[in-house]
Amino acid sequence: MSETFQAPRGTRDIFPPESDRWRALAAAFADHVSLAGYGQVIPPMFEDLAVFSRVGESTDVVRKEMFVLAARDGEAHQALRPEQTASVCRMFAQHRPPLPWKAWYAGPNFRYEKPQKGRYRQFDQVGLEVLGPDDADVDVEVIALAWRFYERVGLRQVRLLLNSLGDGPGRVRYVEALRVHFGAHLDALSEASRETLAQNPLRVLDSKRPEDAALVAAAPQLADYLSEPDAEHFARVRRGLDALGIPYQLEPRLVRGLDYYTRTTFEFAADALDAAQNAVGGGGRYDGLVADLGGPAVPGVGFALGVDRILLACDAEGAFPPPRAGVEVFVVSTTPGTEAVELCDELRRAGVRVDRAFDGRSMKSQMKAADRSGAVVALLIGDREAAERVVTMRPMHGGEQRTVGRDDVLRELRPMLDGPSGADH
Ligand code: AMP
Repeated sequence: MSETFQAPRGTRDIFPPESDRWRALAAAFADHVSLAGYGQVIPPMFEDLAVFSRVGESTDVVRKEMFVLAARDGEAHQALRPEQTASVCRMFAQHRPPLPWKAWYAGPNFRYEKPQKGRYRQFDQVGLEVLGPDDADVDVEVIALAWRFYERVGLRQVRLLLNSLGDGPGRVRYVEALRVHFGAHLDALSEASRETLAQNPLRVLDSKRPEDAALVAAAPQLADYLSEPDAEHFARVRRGLDALGIPYQLEPRLVRGLDYYTRTTFEFAADALDAAQNAVGGGGRYDGLVADLGGPAVPGVGFALGVDRILLACDAEGAFPPPRAGVEVFVVSTTPGTEAVELCDELRRAGVRVDRAFDGRSMKSQMKAADRSGAVVALLIGDREAAERVVTMRPMHGGEQRTVGRDDVLRELRPMLDGPSGADH
């Protein structure tokens, strides 16, 4: 007996109708953001290692979870992408499209995490980035597009968590204040956080370890350190969201999982999911990232939404059912000729969704297959039909069956099918 294989740990095989839902979600996103002038970009799934290490040297995502690719010479130069913002900014730095540049993307990312429900080693995101303007109205547009997308797929129990991380001298002073605060209580910090403190004090705020909770809660608040322009920028973001009626929760310790964020940061929590995996998306501003990747000093803002988790949240809320898929017509043929082959080809070329049985099965077995297919009409071709160049049309959900001329099948069929159907909602 030969060996059997399974999908790698932390990955999933996705079948219909779930795969139909995935396609529908991606199509809905594409439609949603193209209404706002975003164009799709398709970056490669791996990049030079430095693209990612540049953006997250102090983060678990980059330090511990990257799928680094071993090259033939044994040196590791490249890695599978753990996220796509860095790739999109690398694309910009390399090709310099005109500003403002509004780009969206969809596709898988790879992180070597401990797998559990809602946390996978390969997971999909849809996301967008705007490079160029540092106008707070862009932050509002980006957040609103994410919020309205959750609404569009039917999610009702999503919360927006909002913060500003500041930038420039205010941010420097704040990071220093954190260093002093945590540094004064080093013994009370977890070992992991002591390590993080040396790399990036801001990230200690992201610690979920219980032993750090008290110190994190007592840490200085960034709001007290925001420079006047940053405070005004954040106030304008909030005014915009208020004007749109988009509720948010201010979350002063929201620092996010990557190093590059400045000023506005946000996350979306789905209350229908377990608290450990309830983040269904997040994003923010990253005004220094393009320059870090060798490009000009161009500000940026964007988000990434987790497709796997959005669909889990939809399951929990009973939203976004799979679109109607499958076929409309099933051809049942008990003749040795090419009638079924020709009929399927003709109908498919006319845009009708048609399947048939193979292997010369009995009439009874083919009718069972027709039933299972979900088709609304079965087209029967036996020896008599073949000889007379006719086809018998049998409605699958009640109604009289009748025989029509072979050349009239398409015309007679049309009124029995309920119009075009596709994968989109
Ligand atoms: P992040 O850049 O880590 O904030 O990721 C953005 C979104 O991607 C998160 O809010 C999740 O919805 C999703 N996500 C991140 N990591 C995973 C993972 N390992 N498995 C499934 N979804 C993930």
